[in-house]
Amino acid sequence: MNKLRFDELSLSPEMQRAIADMGFEEASPIQTEAIPVIMQGRDVIGQAQTGTGKTAAFGIPAIESIDPKDRRVQTLILCPTRELAVQVSEEISRLIKYKNGISVVPIYGGQSYDRQLRALKQGVQIVIGTPGRVMDHIERGTLQLDAVKKIILDEADEMLDMGFREDIEFVLTKIPAERQTIFFSATMSKPIMELTKKYQRDPQLVKVVHQTLTVTNIEQVYYEVRNNMKMEVLSRIIDMYNLKSLIVFCNTKRMVDELVSNLQARGYFADGLHGDMNQTQRTNVMAKFKAGTLEILVATDVAARGIDVEDLEAVFNYDLPQDEEAYVHRIGRTGRAGKSGKAFSFVSGRDIYKLKDIMRFTNAKIKLAAVPSYEDVAEIKTNLFLDQIKEVIQQGKLEKHIARIERLLTEDFTSLEIAAALLKMNLKEAKAQAASEEMKGPREGYNRLFVTMGKKDRIHPKDIIEALTENTSIPSSKIGDIDLYDKFSFVEVAKEYTSEVLDRLGRTTLLGKPVSFEKAQSKNAMGGEKERDRDGGGRDRDRDGGGSRGGFEDRPRGGGGFRERNDRERNSRFGKREKTRRW
Ligand code: AMP
Repeated sequence: MNKLRFDELSLSPEMQRAIADMGFEEASPIQTEAIPVIMQGRDVIGQAQTGTGKTAAFGIPAIESIDPKDRRVQTLILCPTRELAVQVSEEISRLIKYKNGISVVPIYGGQSYDRQLRALKQGVQIVIGTPGRVMDHIERGTLQLDAVKKIILDEADEMLDMGFREDIEFVLTKIPAERQTIFFSATMSKPIMELTKKYQRDPQLVKVVHQTLTVTNIEQVYYEVRNNMKMEVLSRIIDMYNLKSLIVFCNTKRMVDELVSNLQARGYFADGLHGDMNQTQRTNVMAKFKAGTLEILVATDVAARGIDVEDLEAVFNYDLPQDEEAYVHRIGRTGRAGKSGKAFSFVSGRDIYKLKDIMRFTNAKIKLAAVPSYEDVAEIKTNLFLDQIKEVIQQGKLEKHIARIERLLTEDFTSLEIAAALLKMNLKEAKAQAASEEMKGPREGYNRLFVTMGKKDRIHPKDIIEALTENTSIPSSKIGDIDLYDKFSFVEVAKEYTSEVLDRLGRTTLLGKPVSFEKAQSKNAMGGEKERDRDGGGRDRDRDGGGSRGGFEDRPRGGGGFRERNDRERNSRFGKREKTRRW
């Protein structure tokens, strides 16, 4: 189906700006269908699963119709669970970022009434709540609904399944008759249809229909991965299969940028492709990818449309696509010309429902795979390395090397010992390389933070110091050493300021580019899941680069070119380091 660009949807400039900040490139199918109809003021039944962009599909038109001068509740959104209410409220908060005078509050069971009462008293135009708690507030007289113009039931089928029918009906009867009633539901069950008949006026059904498409030749698997572990799992899979030509799909431009810098920091040859890049930049990236100097292309659907690459080994859905057709288009880029390809999808939380839709639509069996452990990766890499040795032996032309090794044989070493020593040296070199990649611990009383910008971004130590001192209360005397690399940097900050820095600068912009400050991993934590678990918190702290690529990465890939590859790899992975000692 044709998807619309957001600038084709007659949205306010403030809304366009917020959407651009969120990194959305184009409206998802359900947004394309639903936004114009909701904006016309009609009652709507939207059939959409979670993950399709449904929140913005009803959130955008709801926000656009709010009168900021009127502080009364104008839109009420009901959600089945507190988690969903919070999620919807967060998405709406991002969408109202540039709208002055509009506020939103989630109200749900389990949270103290006081906080909710304070928010409601101050005046708020958008209320998102679970049915029970909303009903309580209505009964206590603390939620006034006489100015409500829109009522939205999100995941209506789920609410009915959870036994909220009476509460929902109670709320619906308290909303003025002159209103717009919108239902979103993944299924169109009989009880839903009864509810719409009773409470909606001439509703328009909005859903995304598509033909079934099938994909053959492609091995499709999915991994259940929490968002903060996706990067780690991606690199393990790439390493394990020794992938050299792949596309990783993300849903937003922001995610593309973030993933590219993380992959580069880990030493992969990766670059991104998205709608904000000009033609020359795109052509350059594509030329490098086709020539094989770039191994990983990270792209949005829009950017990948129309690019033609043969011989892809694998496609990753780092984010599951918002519609099933996009899934087929994405993975169809591998397994061309009768070759077999691999498609890996990351599924977190409720994505599983979307994956089930995809399976239904594509008639495909997408198998759950276990996330490879470090031992699995190491074992497979060892096997790959041994296979390569076999290959080199079969290719022959080893006379010169044999003659050199014979020198040791005369000294009474066995060939097995010599081979083992070479293997060990290879391992050691890779380890030393990883270790040299600045895994040292911070000085006493300080934490070492990883910054996702480096010299290539033209960043100077003073930029990092300014970012810290201007946005947090840290004085410059509490900032330690700063190490700049090509694509990332490290900065030491006094422990007492670390959490403030991470809170304020976890994600920000510097020199006009997105940047994040994160806690760096210690040397011992190189690839150590246990270590990560111990320091808890759930942030992705694996970006110091190097760790996960220890092992055999310096092996010659394919035939000759060992040295060249090695140098290239080293240059790209470490760049030239520039150190600023601060005291
Ligand atoms: P939802 O279906 O509302 O749960 O949305 C799933 C995720 O998709 C959320 O993280 C949204 O921020 C994101 N999203 C919504 N619309 C778009 C879009 N047009 N492009 C990319 N991501 C989107």
